[in-house]
This record gives sequence, C-alpha cells and structure tokens, in this order.
Amino acid sequence: MSKEKICRVCGRIITDEKNKTGLCPKYQKVRNNIAGLGLLASLGIGLKKYGPKIASAAIKLVKK
Ligand SMILES: [Zn+2]
Repeated sequence: MSKEKICRVCGRIITDEKNKTGLCPKYQKVRNNIAGLGLLASLGIGLKKYGPKIASAAIKLVKK
C-alpha cells in the first residue's frame, strides 16, 4: 500500500508516513531556516524598496 517517499534534496527514503513535505527531517529543518531567512531578507528588501513610498504615503495621510 505505502509508496516509498524519497527526499527531494538528498534522495533519502522518508520513513515518516505523515511527511508531506517531500523532505527528510534534516532538510525540513534546513528548509524552515531558509524560509525564515528568505522572509527576513524579503522584508528587508521590501522596506528598502518601499519604505520611502510607505513613509511618504503615511505623511500624506497625516496631512489630510
Ligand atoms: Zn534529505
């Protein structure tokens, strides 16, 4: 019944049947870290890119 799941990164067989990520526990952790870093990075980029616009828009709103 059970089809073998293999980690998408390292090809290791995933024994956890509830695993839906397609990643072995090792790379699940890595993925979580990367996701966290990516979120932080995109937030940083977003602030740099849109910060001034948001700030000026907020100033306009206040002036109204
Ligand atoms: Zn793996």
